[in-house]
Amino acid sequence: YAAKRGDDRVAVYDARMERDRTEKLALLADLRTTLQEHPERIAVYFQPQIDLASRSVCSAEALVRWHHPTLGVVSPDRFIPLAETAGLIDQFTPLILDAALHECRAWAESGRDIGVAVNLSARNVGDPRLPQQVAAALRRAGVPSSSLTIEITESSVIADPAQTLSVLARLAAQGVRISLDDFGTGYSSLSYLQRLPVQEVKIDRSFVFGLAQQEDARNSRALISAITSLCRSLDLHVVAEGAELAEMLDELRVLGCDVAQGYVIARPLSAPDFARWLDESAFAGSPRPRLLDDRA
Ligand code: C2E
Ligand code: MG
Ligand code: MG
Ligand code: MG
Repeated sequence: YAAKRGDDRVAVYDARMERDRTEKLALLADLRTTLQEHPERIAVYFQPQIDLASRSVCSAEALVRWHHPTLGVVSPDRFIPLAETAGLIDQFTPLILDAALHECRAWAESGRDIGVAVNLSARNVGDPRLPQQVAAALRRAGVPSSSLTIEITESSVIADPAQTLSVLARLAAQGVRISLDDFGTGYSSLSYLQRLPVQEVKIDRSFVFGLAQQEDARNSRALISAITSLCRSLDLHVVAEGAELAEMLDELRVLGCDVAQGYVIARPLSAPDFARWLDESAFAGSPRPRLLDDRA
């Protein structure tokens, strides 16, 4: 009887795995069609990052969205891993880089010095052609390399550490900033800090969420301040992501973070919504006075 029940469970489990697999294959087929026929359905959104000392926007993270005709907005957590395993990520990266740099250029033209951060996959940072592709995208957009940050995670380094290290070193030599994303959730954070040419660390949002949880607050504070003091001694800039509550901004600053990003500042916004946000938000400050600047 037990064996029979066990078999049933296996059958149910198999059925669910099969359904997941079918769903993924269907999504992947849709993704291929979208890339070929409707690339405009892949949109880049922007989430502001504020400098905690001045409380004004200093940069924005580019976050990709897929506007699916029947599923609505599909999150990158669902389709980026699919694109990675199917070898489609190479088609995304130029789209995203161009879109991000194009907006960065538009912000500069409206008198605002706002950098842009782009997330790259393991496959991208293991590709020796990447530094050239990035240089070409910067030239096309007319954006200085110092305005671009590339966000990578520790797991993207693990795939091919030697190759990745050489790609990142070439990017860094071009003046592109490198940021280590989701910091604190991987395996060998500390050794990577030493070995990779990074200028910035992004504290994973799980630590920041913890600040608001009575039972986790003490540990989260301890972890965040340990990370920021380590980063300060290594001359690394610290960004905290996932700030959802107004009180957190002061707390993160006191804990040693330089920059914050999160829903309390703004959700990821489409390019036109981001431009409107720049005109309206208290965090957006006022644009750099162009005339004075040009005279100087
Ligand atoms: P990530 O790089 O760690 O991006 C931060 C994620 O946190 C974003 O999710 C953002 O919308 C979300 N977030 C920001 N502030 C808050 C907050 O206050 N509360 C909460 N609950 N969430 C917040 P999103 O846009 O769904 O992106 C998920 C992940 O997908 C990203 O994590 C990144 O790893 C990946 N991704 C996004 N865009 C790209 C891309 O263009 N290329 C690649 N390769 N990966 C991307
Ligand atoms: Mg990121
Ligand atoms: Mg992150
Ligand atoms: Mg992530």
